[in-house]
Amino acid sequence: MGSIVEAKGRLAGKNAIITGAAGGIGLETSILFAREGASILMTDISAPALEKAKAKVAQLVPNAARVETTVCDVSKESQVQAAVESLDSWGGIDIIFNNAGIMHAQDDDAVGTPENIWDLTMNINVKGVWFGCKHAVLSLRRHGKNKGSIINTASVVALVGSATPQLAYTASKGAVLALTRELAIVHAREGFRFNSLCPAPLNTPLLQDWLGDDVPKRMRREIHFPAGRFGEAVEQAQAVLFLASDEASFVNGHEMVVDGGMTKAYVTPE
Ligand code: NAD
Repeated sequence: MGSIVEAKGRLAGKNAIITGAAGGIGLETSILFAREGASILMTDISAPALEKAKAKVAQLVPNAARVETTVCDVSKESQVQAAVESLDSWGGIDIIFNNAGIMHAQDDDAVGTPENIWDLTMNINVKGVWFGCKHAVLSLRRHGKNKGSIINTASVVALVGSATPQLAYTASKGAVLALTRELAIVHAREGFRFNSLCPAPLNTPLLQDWLGDDVPKRMRREIHFPAGRFGEAVEQAQAVLFLASDEASFVNGHEMVVDGGMTKAYVTPE
């Protein structure tokens, strides 16, 4: 006979918000959270993509506790605030996964990156994460909670430089890592944990659409993986699930690198 946790799920009784929930990592995380018993609010800037994503969760997890959606542009504080406050009637949030992010096709090096692309990237990737953290803290306090888990998506480019430039994106992910670390310290005695996720390049639309059919461009990246492949979104989602759960109760301020060993490689096996 399994334990109560196994029977009810690792996130049973918890309310979670996932931003960028219609995309690769966000959708896989929504599926795992729902499967593990959480009530989830899936948010994304794209209404049609969100509806498709919700249908997929409903199909794969028919016995989910609660799955709702709301369109939310994370770069607009009023929309983030409204999304978080909409969970007040559920008892407030326990988990937020600040995952929405962009890598713009015009993002380039110091010379080539247009200022408007820099600003757009920062507004979504950094300000969006800040707004999510801010309203999560306010919600957790409003509901008198003494524990909460906030997970912010950074990237391996926050840790290592890339010779294929995407300067605004890289700078934005460095900022996510830094702000998450500081919030982890500031809120530790309230029981609110802040951790960041550092994925390496994945098989998700964000990267794959950008690489397209350009084989040399693809090989330029793929060759750096010790395992000889890009990661899968669900491999990121499994790490997020751990960070969200009480199993990670003493994991705070951690940079969870899920990269198949890429950032530890000097040269890769033949
Ligand atoms: P994705 O493009 O599949 O999903 C991102 C989702 O965010 C999309 O559904 C998109 O509609 C949504 N989004 C975009 N702008 C938004 C906004 N302003 N407000 C709300 N939602 C918005 O990409 P993914 O790979 O699942 O990326 C998720 C996160 O992982 C991003 O932060 C990304 O930077 C990061 N990441 C991805 C990779 C990779 O290779 N895919 C690597 C490292 C880090």
